[in-house]
Amino acid sequence: AAARSSPAAVQATNDDAAASKLSCVTKGYMKDDYVHHFVRRTTKRAPIINRGYYARWSVLRKLMLQFLNAGSGSDDHKRKQILSLGAGFDTTFFQLQDEGLAPYLYVELDFQEVTSKKAAIINHYNDMKEKLGPDASISIEKGEVTSTNYKLFSADIRDIPKLDAVIHMAEMDPSLPTFIIAECVLIYLDPASTDAIVSWASEKFSSAIFFLYEQIHPDDAFGEQMIRNLERAVAWDMLKIYNDFIDGGERRRIELLELFDEFEEWHMMQEHYCVAYGINDPEGIFDDFGFKE
Ligand code: SAM
Repeated sequence: AAARSSPAAVQATNDDAAASKLSCVTKGYMKDDYVHHFVRRTTKRAPIINRGYYARWSVLRKLMLQFLNAGSGSDDHKRKQILSLGAGFDTTFFQLQDEGLAPYLYVELDFQEVTSKKAAIINHYNDMKEKLGPDASISIEKGEVTSTNYKLFSADIRDIPKLDAVIHMAEMDPSLPTFIIAECVLIYLDPASTDAIVSWASEKFSSAIFFLYEQIHPDDAFGEQMIRNLERAVAWDMLKIYNDFIDGGERRRIELLELFDEFEEWHMMQEHYCVAYGINDPEGIFDDFGFKE
């Protein structure tokens, strides 16, 4: 059903994601100094929603930091790149910049309606704009931001020639280790488009990890279809992620933040979200990064 939603409805899911992230930040689940710029009215989400968003944020962040920090030197993150498909109002680049962990290039793609709004907000708020450095240029009309380490472009990610063109415009280096993010995005596409995007990514980048987070059951037909294309794929449902992958100390910390008694619903809900990643790694770089099955 989601795949047949109107473009406006799909884009609205992004406003919802930003509002939910802000709800988590306000409650102390996680830190994000920028997401409030993207939300007009602060809304309080139920504890089960906050916990779900926290788990989603936490697993992506843990894998991304593992990717960025891997290597022998202190500035290994500078020889890597990140590509976010359907990035919405995600603010990860700005946080990585604050933490001194920004990669060589962080590229985000979304529909122009979304990237124009994002470009306008980045342009409006100095705390964001200054993270781009002196060479930045912003076009609200085109929905584009280009700076040394961060680039935002509009693209319908189903359009493979456009993906090629945008990667070229963004000056991504296909030979650098690349972390590709599809977070709550592929579910809106038809299966043929998802196949095409994953194939494109594995042909384009010589060493890449393709990370996805979706509301799917990893073992049902749709889940299998999505995961099938990922080489050397690893897939977990979010219950397993929450219980076994997220740091135990962090889990204890967030469990003290709010009264929580929806255990049965929590289990049911988390089993229907999944994280998967596939690795394309002929040179064994990701083995060295610790990404083993
Ligand atoms: N990845 C972000 C996150 O997790 O916060 C945003 C998720 S939001 C639920 C889905 C995003 O995917 C929206 O911003 C929507 O515009 C974008 N999207 C959906 N289909 C797309 C397509 N064909 N091309 C580009 N962006 C798309």
